[in-house]
Amino acid sequence: MIRMNDFRAEPAALLAEQSRAFERVQRSGWYILGPEVAQFEKQWAERCQVPAAAGVANGLDAIELGLRALAIGPGDEVITTPMTAFATVLGIMRAGATPVLADIDPQTGLLSPLSVRHCISRRTRAVLLVHLYGHVHRMDQWLHFCQTEKLDLLEDCAQAHLSSWQGRSAGSFGRWGAYSFYPTKNLGALGDAGALVSTDAALIEHVKVLRNYGQSERYHHPFLGANSRLDELQAALLSVRLAWLEEFTSRRRSIARRYIQGIKNPLLSLLAAPDAEEEHCYHLFVVLTPQREALRLHLQKHEIESLSHYPVPIHRQQAVPDIMEDPEGLHAAERHAEQCLSIPCHPYLGDNEVDRIIETLNNFQGN
Ligand SMILES: *Cc1c(COP(=O)(O)O)cnc(C)c1O
Repeated sequence: MIRMNDFRAEPAALLAEQSRAFERVQRSGWYILGPEVAQFEKQWAERCQVPAAAGVANGLDAIELGLRALAIGPGDEVITTPMTAFATVLGIMRAGATPVLADIDPQTGLLSPLSVRHCISRRTRAVLLVHLYGHVHRMDQWLHFCQTEKLDLLEDCAQAHLSSWQGRSAGSFGRWGAYSFYPTKNLGALGDAGALVSTDAALIEHVKVLRNYGQSERYHHPFLGANSRLDELQAALLSVRLAWLEEFTSRRRSIARRYIQGIKNPLLSLLAAPDAEEEHCYHLFVVLTPQREALRLHLQKHEIESLSHYPVPIHRQQAVPDIMEDPEGLHAAERHAEQCLSIPCHPYLGDNEVDRIIETLNNFQGN
């Protein structure tokens, strides 16, 4: 079986480095918010071309605490996409704000500026972009849009590690970028972890207070915070894995190029490829087909795993029956949810496996 992710194929040298990091933390006798966290935050901020980062417990908390640090909460609306992980919308709701869903552009799967315009009200405070699948797209238009509408631009970067537009990293465009280091993300911990990055160092300092019960100095609590601290162990492992990330990301990019060149089946279509200004990190590689279930079974029969991201758009989720949306509807998101299928794109795939996947896709004849 060719899997979507194959952790057992990780290089022995990487595993050995992780074991040394584990030993180092174990012997240090310091397990939460210490030098390993500070070191990882510094490196991750550099990698994202911003002055500061705050390590937190997961990507969901990064979004919630980022909103709270901007005082976006009850009575405020945040526009985002229905084609995302549930955590994007849950983070907005956990901050007490109201999510409003705009439709996507069917060519990219990303938020449609036209639909976002329909969603603006007197209460709108921010647009939370999701760099879905790792595609950071046309950031000039979003910077301009948010500036003229006087809205905060925010970035959910949970799928966009090392993605960039015109050489600028995901998370460096808006007020902040929220990262997840869930194990299956391009940079993943051996457990849960996340970070908020920002060009505004004071905002990051505020998040560092919020992540630790709202404590400014020991036993002094100017704010009602959360417990969203990052472990030393996860930070140490992330620093090890960060050193490999560039190489793994170029492998993902070359697999994606092979797919783009090789997939020729008229029953399948691909999302718009990144243009010359965009460095996609290919967290996921997605094909679209009206015969999605048949294609999934065909791949499965040939021992190739696939998954949909996402089969149920946010506005169809049981937990949010009354969620606000573009009055003209979310038709492109609904069609995408019916047609999208993610195929394996992890860095340990060999060219022979990629070619086998391409051949299997090209042999798909539908019903
Ligand atoms: C994974 C993910 C999150 C949530 O991150 P967690 O660390 O699982 O909380 C948020 N947004 C998107 C787009 C994601 O893919």
